[in-house]
Amino acid sequence: MSRPSVLSVVGNRPQFVKAAPLSRALRETCDEVLVHSGQHYDPALADLIIDELGVPPPDHALEVGPGSPPAQLSRIIARLEPVIAETRPDLVLVYGDTTTTLAAALTAAKTDTALGHVEAGLRSFQRTMPEEQNRVLTDHLSELLFCPTDAALANLAREGVTDGVHRVGDVMFDAHLMFADAARARPGAERWDLGEDYLLVTVHRAAATDTRQALTAVVEILESLGHPAVFPVHPRTRAKLEEAGLSDRAEAVPGLVLAEPLGYLDFQALLLSARGVVTDSGGVQKEAAFAGVPCITVRDETEWVETVEAGVNRLTGLDAERVVAALEDLPPRFTPPDLYGDGDAAGEISRIIAAHLS
Ligand code: UDP
Repeated sequence: MSRPSVLSVVGNRPQFVKAAPLSRALRETCDEVLVHSGQHYDPALADLIIDELGVPPPDHALEVGPGSPPAQLSRIIARLEPVIAETRPDLVLVYGDTTTTLAAALTAAKTDTALGHVEAGLRSFQRTMPEEQNRVLTDHLSELLFCPTDAALANLAREGVTDGVHRVGDVMFDAHLMFADAARARPGAERWDLGEDYLLVTVHRAAATDTRQALTAVVEILESLGHPAVFPVHPRTRAKLEEAGLSDRAEAVPGLVLAEPLGYLDFQALLLSARGVVTDSGGVQKEAAFAGVPCITVRDETEWVETVEAGVNRLTGLDAERVVAALEDLPPRFTPPDLYGDGDAAGEISRIIAAHLS
């Protein structure tokens, strides 16, 4: 009997991280065709991560390149359709909540191809947030929905989505377990002589970078950290800070290293020994919990509510005063709580897909 064929579509840094364990597991039960949309084309966000995590080289590169979300969305759809027509997969598999995710979901629907969604059911309940639009629409087009948590399952049930829904745990936790030893072997804080009391900072979302007011709030937060800190600056954030004329102010913050985006292993090495994390990233909030490092999330809400309920993540909004208060009250490092499965989400997903398609 021939093996089921799955066409996985990735295109952004966190999707390469998620594909690392999942591509490996999937190829044990299915034939996988891997498509890279090219949404993240900066080598630091794409090739570096793909190479170091051993993600198989893409079979098709759509090279969508820069552009507004609608422009990227339409280009990905136009370039993916012929790939689906040529390869005729049994299932299209998408990850997370990006433009690439939605474009591939729509292309699957319009070519009458079954769709699977990894990280289904996550909600911020902010309908204007681009990621929320992408994930809600993708979930409602999916035949197989792979939820990391019970909260995600409950969110889908509230929207009437119960068929094909599976709680599998989180593939980013699989990646964390897969690469933690390799990360520990890398130089971390000593690269910048940060001492032991340092914070790791990331900010990249539209809500934090799209207006001058938000960018000013980001710089105020950087100025009030009161700890040595390293901030690997996302290219989007770097460009927006420059455009707003705020780069010099950020560069001038004493004790703050503004670094280029790091490879996954170097980033994890820094995270594993940090005193705390300040972030607006979805993935980094979870990774802080995996590493036993307290997190401050500079948003008003999170999709990863379990981290807040477990007391290891605090929401402050983009508000320097609230960040300072949270830092004054920063809990000690902790034993990682058991929130995101047993480290075999990828295996579960690949077994469910194989059973569903055979
Ligand atoms: N990451 C990385 N290098 C960095 C910053 C983050 O490899 O300099 C990794 C991080 O460990 C996590 C992923 O990128 O696995 C998170 O991606 P991002 O914050 O861009 O997206 P989000 O998770 O918010 O969708």
